[in-house]
Amino acid sequence: MRSPKFPVTDDHIHIDPVNGRGVEAAKDFYRAGGTHIFLISKPSWSLKIHPSTGVDYTHVFDETLRVAELVAETGIIVFPVLGVHPAEITRLTERMPLADAVAVMKGGIDCAACYVQEGKAVALKSGRPHYPVTPEYLEASNDVLMHALECAAECGCALQIHAETGPCIDIVDMARQTGVPVERVVKHYGSPETPLHPSLIAKHEGIPDLVKCGRPFTMESDYMDENDRPGAVIGPKSVPRYTNQLLSSGKITVEDCFRIHGETINKVYGVMVILS
Ligand SMILES: [Zn+2]
Repeated sequence: MRSPKFPVTDDHIHIDPVNGRGVEAAKDFYRAGGTHIFLISKPSWSLKIHPSTGVDYTHVFDETLRVAELVAETGIIVFPVLGVHPAEITRLTERMPLADAVAVMKGGIDCAACYVQEGKAVALKSGRPHYPVTPEYLEASNDVLMHALECAAECGCALQIHAETGPCIDIVDMARQTGVPVERVVKHYGSPETPLHPSLIAKHEGIPDLVKCGRPFTMESDYMDENDRPGAVIGPKSVPRYTNQLLSSGKITVEDCFRIHGETINKVYGVMVILS
């Protein structure tokens, strides 16, 4: 067994043993120095699941939990995050009216919230399309997002959101209305200008400045683990690799590593990142 000197946490990664490299990708992360991951449920269509009710997302979430167990055997500590990908609205409305799609997505989030309440997952995932949509679709997506915030408030958990590039200032108000602290709304693929909690892609050039000014953030790879999209994102090793690069170039210290990959994660998600 190795004994890492500091934690290294990937705040947003997918592992898919059916369509990707699966546990082998997780082992790459581990060997590069990774210790903890937030394993995010994949979009239903990428698992060839086509929900027609909220309960159908059970198949998506059970697959995420099955993968979490496989990955945990490598020695990585896995925190599952479950929810409904915002682009599902476009997929679902190919098969049903918009109002039904909204109901299915809200039902899927209810289903994810049950897993959080049972202690099987640590956080929820929602958002709104990151691509241009009609005002009608945007309103429907915000309705789903509001529901996800309400569920996060009820569960007392964090919410990861996938949304358009930019600060997403209006989501601060939405979070306040539901009582979810803004620091617990995580902007996946975030940037420093967001008032939400930014989860930055590992190679983000703004990281040293954020460390200097003491702004809390976390780091992610958004690795998709799909063999037919190998170059779509950075690899599973990227969070440990960039962390070690920042450390060896003197841009961050070991204390910073404990803050980014340990303390901040604990505050945002209410988990305990400890080195074993
Ligand atoms: Zn993702």
